[in-house]
Amino acid sequence: MSNSLMKIEKVKAYYMLKDRYVKAVDNISFEINENEVIGVVGESGCGKSTLSNVLMMNIIKPLALIDGKILFKTNGSYKEISSLSREEVRKDFWGKKMALIPQAAMNALMPTIKIEKYVEHLADAHNIPKDKFLKKAKERFEKVDLDPKWLKRFPFELSGGMKQRAVIAIATLLDPDLLIADEPTSALDVVNQKMFLKILMEMKKQGIVKSIIFVTHDIATIRQIADRMLVMYAGKIMEISPIDKIVEKPLNPYTQGLLNSVLTPEPEIKKRGITTIPGAPPNLIDPPKGCRFHPRCPHAMDICKEKEPELKEVEPGRKVACFLYSEERS
Ligand code: SF4
Repeated sequence: MSNSLMKIEKVKAYYMLKDRYVKAVDNISFEINENEVIGVVGESGCGKSTLSNVLMMNIIKPLALIDGKILFKTNGSYKEISSLSREEVRKDFWGKKMALIPQAAMNALMPTIKIEKYVEHLADAHNIPKDKFLKKAKERFEKVDLDPKWLKRFPFELSGGMKQRAVIAIATLLDPDLLIADEPTSALDVVNQKMFLKILMEMKKQGIVKSIIFVTHDIATIRQIADRMLVMYAGKIMEISPIDKIVEKPLNPYTQGLLNSVLTPEPEIKKRGITTIPGAPPNLIDPPKGCRFHPRCPHAMDICKEKEPELKEVEPGRKVACFLYSEERS
């Protein structure tokens, strides 16, 4: 049995509009290992949030799973969750096996519903006695540095940092194997960001969650918490690599541009200096032929305009989609 908790094989998920479709996740394959943190980075609109929802099989029209397989390890064997309905995955996997903290989750809490009601809804959904679950919620609130009295309060009474901690406490009440956190710190100030990350890593250390997908724009955060970095551009994976290697020497020109365009305390990045990537990501209704990054790539060759580069292993544990590392260019 492999070390993979989840296998994503050639997955395509498009937004089906009236007369066209948006290729938000387009032929993506990778594996999520047990006990690892993967940081997912890329510019806005490159498919990161769609990928988060696809991994959860939280597929709601107009989003549709067009092709590919998603396998999740459960009780020692792999179950193909991509062949199940959203409702079946919700019932058997959400909360217990996998949990999602969606973008702006803390703002999605209804201001007029007491926080303990969310815990009770979850208990109902999983047929768990409410008092037992509320007891667990109180303990979990203490773990995330929140007084359990806040369970009886309304979300509007909590600060942003407290709300986000309440969200992670509730999302992980059933100790899911995988937690997907989509930009969980972007709306927080620096103090609350640090606190949230500390709580997240403590939960992993204590085995409350085993693996984490952390979607962010913040390369410095990824460096602190992730084992691997996955770089997305225009619905594709451009590179996936152990974190130290990718920060020290990014291979794909898009990764190079992305890492060099952010202000970060990373010494390797500082040394290379700040640059920007010219242009903007393409419209995913009609993305460029060949490598989707070619109109912006300083190293684009003729083949890049015609053919799509495959994501290939170029050294142990490092995969990159780029003709600069392929024999096909010659
Ligand atoms: Fe640039 Fe070509 Fe590599 Fe794409 S395949 S990133 S266009 S060099």
